Amino acid sequence: MIEIKHHGAVTGVTGSCHELRLSQATKGSDPSGSDPTLLSAVNPPAGILIDCGLFQGQEESRGSSAADLAIDFPIEHIRALVVTHVHIDHVGRIPYLLAAGFDGPIICSEPSAIMLPEILEDALKIGFTRDRALINRVLELIRARVVPLPYGRWHSVFEEGGGSLKVRLQRAGHILGSAYVECDVVSGTAAERIVFSGDLGAPHSPLLPEPSPPERADRLVIESTYGDKNHEDRETRRYRLKAVLEHALEDGGTVLIPAFSIGRTQELLYEIEGLIAEFGDEAILQAAKGADPLGSDPTLLPATDSKAGAFGVSPQGDRPRSRPGSRPRSESLTWSNLEIVVDSPLAAEFTRIHRDLKPFWDEEARALVAAGRHPLSFEQLTVINSHEDHLNAVEYLAKSHRPCVVIAGSGMCAGGRVVNYLKAMLGDARNDVLFVGYQAAGTPGRNILTYGPRGGWVELDGERYDIRARVHTVGGYSAHAGQEDLLRFVEGIPQPPSEIRIVHGDDEAKRALQGKLRESLPQVAVVIPN
Ligand SMILES: [Zn+2]
Repeated sequence: MIEIKHHGAVTGVTGSCHELRLSQATKGSDPSGSDPTLLSAVNPPAGILIDCGLFQGQEESRGSSAADLAIDFPIEHIRALVVTHVHIDHVGRIPYLLAAGFDGPIICSEPSAIMLPEILEDALKIGFTRDRALINRVLELIRARVVPLPYGRWHSVFEEGGGSLKVRLQRAGHILGSAYVECDVVSGTAAERIVFSGDLGAPHSPLLPEPSPPERADRLVIESTYGDKNHEDRETRRYRLKAVLEHALEDGGTVLIPAFSIGRTQELLYEIEGLIAEFGDEAILQAAKGADPLGSDPTLLPATDSKAGAFGVSPQGDRPRSRPGSRPRSESLTWSNLEIVVDSPLAAEFTRIHRDLKPFWDEEARALVAAGRHPLSFEQLTVINSHEDHLNAVEYLAKSHRPCVVIAGSGMCAGGRVVNYLKAMLGDARNDVLFVGYQAAGTPGRNILTYGPRGGWVELDGERYDIRARVHTVGGYSAHAGQEDLLRFVEGIPQPPSEIRIVHGDDEAKRALQGKLRESLPQVAVVIPN
């Protein structure tokens, strides 16, 4: 029999982790697999895992120990792990899987194969151990196990005891390297195509082509992060971003954008580069409004190891246009001299990887490159790497009120460098926080979004911070498919699946998607496993 199991996203601590298990059923066995006595009567089962993630919301996982995260299900029969994409809630428990003795291959797309060790190195440092030697051993193990699989190519995982399993990855359009997984499974006389969606992207994503529905899926396991919402119009969001940034920068101060290192940061950079290219000399802020929009004492500029200088304006910099000391005081802030800071070594690293992987970009992005544009490395962009530069930047920006856009992780404000910015900046009404992504319940990001506009407070590292900074949201930036996108994905499968399992989302989102799918495909069993 062919079973689908869900090991993740149940306790609130673990992320996505699904299993496809083949076991040779005895004749006349219960095909639903609900009779546990039959399982003991079959040959040793064999299976694969799809993802092995760690939940990102800190509130829920606070107090969780390594023991909570240890793999708590049998893995002796697991022949391979297939990774849909490298977000932590899909890969974060891989070190625990290895610790539990998993010794099979880790199958993923080519871009994911490059990014996986990077993302896990970061996760290990934060949550697992500070022991460098141990981290290196785990990373070596992961690098040795990774099997990069080109999109669209079948790969045989195993063939044994009358059963076989092949997988094929297809572009999911969610983040670079993301894939949905098609599994062709044969168990005795039963043969099935089972599809795991992973996280699906939305149309009009910068950089990534949108996903096409599977050509076949007898059973489908689908995510539902945005199962209850449709995104705001993604085609106009660049202009909404522009309007919000202009409004936010009106009174000077920093616009802080909490964003995930992979995907969102690069999308934002791509779109900001687009705004700069389109509106270059247009004023964001007239000098008349504030006495000195770019006002700053260059001597306050933080030291930096970046060649361009922090904020690209180091006094010794070779770009007079953005050197505050040389700027006439009446000069207004324009798009081409607005400074964009990415304060995250990980985001910087992934931006570099994105630049290296242009063959995986969509046509529009490749056309820009062909036209001589540099969507991910424009001159107004400064990257802050060292922790010291980061602390200097926080202090400098909080004091100077210099108009600036800072992108820092984590996306839900549950950790990372954005927390230092929030502590230093939330209390000042000149600053702004701009959310461009999903904020899970219980995260500081969700609390800032909820209580900020009412003049409330948020708890960061156990302390209360009053929120006087303005809070904005620009929708349509989610890397996740919205409800309509998910429905289009399912309805695009020529022959409807016999069963659809909805996973990975808040309860309301799951139920909303379930309702919609039941409406549009009444003959399909649409279940929410728990
Ligand atoms: Zn994801």
